[in-house]
Amino acid sequence: STEQSSIDKVRTICSYCGVGCNLEVSVKDNKILSIEAPKDAAVNSGHTCLKGRYAWRFYNHPDRLTKPLVRLNGALTEVSWDFAFDYLAKKMNAIKSEHGGDALAGISSARCTNEENYLLQKMMRVVLGTNNIDCCARVCHSPTAYGMQQSFGTGAATNSIDDLKETNFILLIGANPTAAHPVTGAKIKQKVLKGTPLIVLDPVKTELARYANWHIQLRPGTNVAVLNMMAYYIITEQLIDQSFVDNRTEEYLAYRDAILSLNMDELANIAGVDKNLVKEAAIAYAKASHAMSFHGLGVTEHSQGSRAIMCIADLVMLTGNIGRAGVGMNPLRGQNNVQGAADMGCQPHQGAGYLDVTKEDNIEYYKSHYGIAPNELWPTDVGYKIPEMFNAALAGDLKALWIMGEDVVQTDPNQHHVVASLSNLDLLVVQEIFLSETAKMADVVLPGSSFLEKNGTFTNGERRVQKVNAAVPPKEGCKTDGQIVVDMMNALGYQQADYHADSMLEEISQVVPFFAGITWDNLGENGLQWPVAKDGTDTQILHTEQFTRGLGKFHFYEFEESKEVEEHGAQYPFILTTSRNLEHYNAGTMTRRTANEIIVSEDVLLINPLDAKAKAIKDNSKVRLYSARGEIELTAEISEKVKSGVLFTTFHFPELMINRVTGDVTDKHTKCPEYKVVSVGIEPACS
Ligand code: SF4
Repeated sequence: STEQSSIDKVRTICSYCGVGCNLEVSVKDNKILSIEAPKDAAVNSGHTCLKGRYAWRFYNHPDRLTKPLVRLNGALTEVSWDFAFDYLAKKMNAIKSEHGGDALAGISSARCTNEENYLLQKMMRVVLGTNNIDCCARVCHSPTAYGMQQSFGTGAATNSIDDLKETNFILLIGANPTAAHPVTGAKIKQKVLKGTPLIVLDPVKTELARYANWHIQLRPGTNVAVLNMMAYYIITEQLIDQSFVDNRTEEYLAYRDAILSLNMDELANIAGVDKNLVKEAAIAYAKASHAMSFHGLGVTEHSQGSRAIMCIADLVMLTGNIGRAGVGMNPLRGQNNVQGAADMGCQPHQGAGYLDVTKEDNIEYYKSHYGIAPNELWPTDVGYKIPEMFNAALAGDLKALWIMGEDVVQTDPNQHHVVASLSNLDLLVVQEIFLSETAKMADVVLPGSSFLEKNGTFTNGERRVQKVNAAVPPKEGCKTDGQIVVDMMNALGYQQADYHADSMLEEISQVVPFFAGITWDNLGENGLQWPVAKDGTDTQILHTEQFTRGLGKFHFYEFEESKEVEEHGAQYPFILTTSRNLEHYNAGTMTRRTANEIIVSEDVLLINPLDAKAKAIKDNSKVRLYSARGEIELTAEISEKVKSGVLFTTFHFPELMINRVTGDVTDKHTKCPEYKVVSVGIEPACS
């Protein structure tokens, strides 16, 4: 019919989690009618979760920002784009000439495309002359990237989710995929329901823990203790893959001796687990011919986050579960394009393509690609990581911060510290689609665009680079985030061509070695998994013949108690841990502006019945939760999902401000915050 012929179908990628589901968007007269899932999508074969299919109406919500805002006489005031860029160019140039490029910093966004992330790091490095650029991987999977680089040489998933078809054993550590990565979670659940054995290592009785053959419900913060226990039993039961260890790895003997010196009773006591359960699980894992491991932020967001990653890599190498189909070590990336943001160089120590920014050769490489003359200045020091940016702002060393699509006030730990730091800046610039908690504090707010309004690519958790196609034009008054950065670069005097996904991708393919064979046209409908060779051949499985670093390297780390528990545990005896729910996404900026707000409208605190009784806390009553940093009030739900001494909540509602209680402890290697172990006290509210 005529009506049907005027409906366009646009294929794009979900902008919520790192599964990267393909979506088919029905559009008529520049309005989105519905979203479905294409059946031929390699990632999701016709499936989505309720976020991807239904939670998209935020894109034209009345709260959308549609005009640039500049703080004039203390108030955010609507201005023209020209005024905003002139104002910014003057301010940024003045800060750069007075204090140097390192007085400016940028934070990029996993919501934005690879091309937009690439542009932001290019502006910071090439135009402003600083390596002060970071992204939200800092607060989620930076320990994965670091730890896997140390063990294998590449900090990304070794296999594809499709490998679940070929596995016969699943090890799931610190992740709740049926809520946080629902399409992958459903695939794991189906596998398990059909009989594939499952180990779940998690302090919370998640949905998949209910189906697990072994649920090791450890105390939050003790992953390293339990992973070392598993290694101990695999070695003492003589279940290691000797030929793999001999031919493909190094430093095994020192690792083995250290593991064998551990005391299992002591570690079981530390983690609060039954050592026989760990032993049984470890033996089953080692005996499986094809074991796949998955992990999430329950591994990384700890003071020993990077070390726990290397401990998982040790188990994978001990049992030879890497380098072939149906095995491997697979981080469940939390955000749609957090993999891509790091790949594109939004990190202070590595530029686009993960080259060390302090090495002479790499500096020359980047200079030649960016058209910088050999004698021209270029940043040579590692820049600030996000927590260091806040510290530097508070100390007065950082003067300006450019944030593209991150609500750090709501999502970064120790909110009081974050707010104090941002307040001390001379210039805070925020690119956003809504007036987030961070945007409310900004000096300049630039209205960006949602994923439905832009072209580009996202890279999912299995290294799959997929095309994002605009279903509708940017909302009137808004620009794509890439064009905003381009316009800013031009206002600062650097000639940067307008934002077009295909030409940006062409530039990226020349700079990032593992994008060498990617072009806009050859990505097709289902994308390509990096590394992609010049001839366009992509890679489903990493480390097949040898590891990226040559031999895989064993690392031994002993369990160390978190400083948070050591310093505050006596006064604040409960451990709070957090995670996502199915209906909402992170700070809730998008999902709270959809019907999902009606389904789930607050964050609740799970408390074990024994603790509730001891503290006289009733089900569904208000409680006061307090830590060394601050306090909040929320509703308690009495639940057997957490053990005595452990509390759990989600973090989607700004009213709750969970980060008023979280602390400053970070992972030793990457400064990823320890969100998962917070020493708190609890009591009935108004008692
Ligand atoms: Fe797929 Fe994740 Fe989007 Fe759900 S949130 S549709 S699982 S990409």
